[in-house]
Amino acid sequence: MKVRTRFAPSPTGFLHIGGARTALFSWAYARRHGGVFILRVEDTDVARSTPAAVQAILDGMQWLGLAHDEGPFYQMQRMERYKEVIAGMLAAGSAYYCYTSKDELDQLRAAQEARKEKPRYDGRWRPESGKILPAPPAGVAPVVRFCNPVDGVVSWDDQVKGRIEFANVELDDFIIARGDGTPTYNFCVVVDDVDMGITHVIRGDDHVNNTPRQINLLHALQAPVPHYAHLSMILGDDGQKLSKRHGAVSVMQYHEDGYLPEAVLNYLARLGWSHGDDEVFDMNQFVAWFDLNHITASAAQFNTEKLNWLNAHYIRQADLSRLAADVASRLAVRDVATVAGPDLERVIALYRERAGNLNELADAVHPFYAMVTPSAELREQHLTPSACAALAALQDHFAGCPWQAAELGQAVKQTAAEQGLKMPQVAIPLRVALLGLPQSPAIDAVLEVMGRERVAERLSRILAV
Ligand code: GLU
Repeated sequence: MKVRTRFAPSPTGFLHIGGARTALFSWAYARRHGGVFILRVEDTDVARSTPAAVQAILDGMQWLGLAHDEGPFYQMQRMERYKEVIAGMLAAGSAYYCYTSKDELDQLRAAQEARKEKPRYDGRWRPESGKILPAPPAGVAPVVRFCNPVDGVVSWDDQVKGRIEFANVELDDFIIARGDGTPTYNFCVVVDDVDMGITHVIRGDDHVNNTPRQINLLHALQAPVPHYAHLSMILGDDGQKLSKRHGAVSVMQYHEDGYLPEAVLNYLARLGWSHGDDEVFDMNQFVAWFDLNHITASAAQFNTEKLNWLNAHYIRQADLSRLAADVASRLAVRDVATVAGPDLERVIALYRERAGNLNELADAVHPFYAMVTPSAELREQHLTPSACAALAALQDHFAGCPWQAAELGQAVKQTAAEQGLKMPQVAIPLRVALLGLPQSPAIDAVLEVMGRERVAERLSRILAV
């Protein structure tokens, strides 16, 4: 049996972090077993689905690198198929027309509630042997209901939660097509899972209550029942259900906030799944390890600190050329061009050890490419007359100095000695002059990377005021 999994988002918002984890696990499971990963867009809720949300999902999946093998399939493009299956079920007797009006349903519900019963459709239009149905009322567009089994239980061995059972009496004959003929949610999911040959349904546990209905439908269609793995929800840092209140819940927001996709993926992989104590691993390793047995049944709690730690780790590991391309585009948004400046990869190499995210990295390298004007406060504190005299002397030293960190460091030291100052009394004003900041990585490395001309230009400008 070839494994076939799917990720089936409803395009009613962004791809959020919970959806991304579902996608990751479905993707990894298919990859692990040499199977097929399918993307299916469940867009039948026309009032809430938007093209922008579809695009956001595709963008998020692409950014994460979770490539699908088939699809994207759109449910709205499969209406004919759903209608065909409904017609087949009506003909086979596993579904029937129901003409109960809204008023009648309201009365039924009120009566059931008065008797302290769970509100459910009472099957009044369900064909049964020996039962005589009334004549269909004129002018009423009937819904189509599924003939749910009346007794027994429906159960499955959930790959995450263990055995789950529902009594059929708890499930009424739910509607599979509305009065206007449009199919309903559970029905479309089932037809799609059958047609797409899905073997493993991995999804959020908000769908546990749908599963018994879906299994009964599968039985009625004489289709194989896939394995189900229902993932527990993700809680925010504060232990509350993850929601917009927690800020960056959209995957693309993480991109904007300067996270690398491999950090987010590594983080999500550990959110409810484990492989011993392993915390840091790439997606090849994850795919090789991933199984459904090690998914925890309890809710996973988001830990931003850990995500940040992983992000810093991956920033330290990343290809400099890739970081440079990313940082250049972040600076371009701020109208800062990097092409004419010092070599961006070398500047990044100086700063990446201390960057928690790509925006911080962009902030850190920004002064290398933009006109620097130290604040009045910094000027007053650090660009004192004696410091400026030292910087002027340093400028002379630089003129004849080979542009190498060792020699440049030597020049700063020598200048400090000649001026009767301590090394920081020259190095800090130098940083303020060059970068507008009192701190930086090793000053000799900063000088080397910034380059002779830019250093000369910045020092002259500062000393001219
Ligand atoms: N469209 C559903 C959702 O976004 C998922 C359905 C499923 O995975 O079966 O929650």
